[in-house]
Amino acid sequence: MKHAFLSAAAAVAFAVLLTLTVRCGRKTTARTTPAIPMQTTVAPSASQAGTELQAPQPFDRNYFLPVLREGEIVSLDLRTYLTGVLLAELPASFSEETCKAQAVACRTYALRSYDRRRHQGAAVCTDSACCQGWLDPSTVSADRRAGAEAAVDATDGLAIFYDGELIDATFFSCSGGQTEDAAAVWGGDLPYLRSVPSPGEEGATHFSDEQRVPLAEFQAALRSADPSVSFPEALGAWVGNVTRTTGGGVDVMVLGGRPFRGTELRKIFGLRSTAFTLTLTADEAIFKTSGFGHRVGMSQYGAEAMARTGKRFDEILTWYYQGVTVERADP
Ligand SMILES: [Zn+2]
Repeated sequence: MKHAFLSAAAAVAFAVLLTLTVRCGRKTTARTTPAIPMQTTVAPSASQAGTELQAPQPFDRNYFLPVLREGEIVSLDLRTYLTGVLLAELPASFSEETCKAQAVACRTYALRSYDRRRHQGAAVCTDSACCQGWLDPSTVSADRRAGAEAAVDATDGLAIFYDGELIDATFFSCSGGQTEDAAAVWGGDLPYLRSVPSPGEEGATHFSDEQRVPLAEFQAALRSADPSVSFPEALGAWVGNVTRTTGGGVDVMVLGGRPFRGTELRKIFGLRSTAFTLTLTADEAIFKTSGFGHRVGMSQYGAEAMARTGKRFDEILTWYYQGVTVERADP
């Protein structure tokens, strides 16, 4: 466990962050944040507080989120929820600024989900393939839990906005060196989810990978996706034109005479990403992939590389989500 979180440093960071407003690019207008449910706390009045400046009330401890977990809906305060998300979504070795960037992205996701009760009335579930993973903080060591809690507390209430609205703060493991446009993966263009370079990820487990598929299986999988594909005798004729996305992914690849989207091929063959090359041999189809995940938004390994060169969490966020602001969400 390498979270070198010092409580004194966290307290200073917290104090600084309470007044921190990061502005990058477009000016914000009125923000939309779901109302704080269930509990409210009242800040002491100026007369009670004397002349000292009072910190705003903690946001995360007072915001309760309905979470679908193992078939049951539980109400978790945002601090507990985000601590569990960090424990589930990030390697324990990642540094403090990466954890803080991740906490802000995950808080943004949670706040944005609040009004969308997609899970039997709950805002989010704990399946990482659907929403964000969650690991019960009481099941890990006190040291590890304290590290995650420090990152959540140091960014208390901070979220990411574009044009006054909470953003779709997507993230993934590793880009392979360049992130992807949202439009290339999901079809809809989002100005803050566009392809950016993501250097320094070479140490990631799946920075580059090779996946081999026996040729007969390769043909069968494509035939079941589209029975009209045909495979002439000459192997060289199986692969036709390939177009690529801005982020280096396969946009369209013609296989067996039929155009397949890169996202479709990723699903058919369980590829780690859409950034791949394909080589056919007499026995096998060999996919060489770069990165792991949809590659849209913040790269966790890229964020860690930035953190290790001294970048702050807000600099990481405004790099991967272009034109956004990082601000305290208003109750
Ligand atoms: Zn879900």
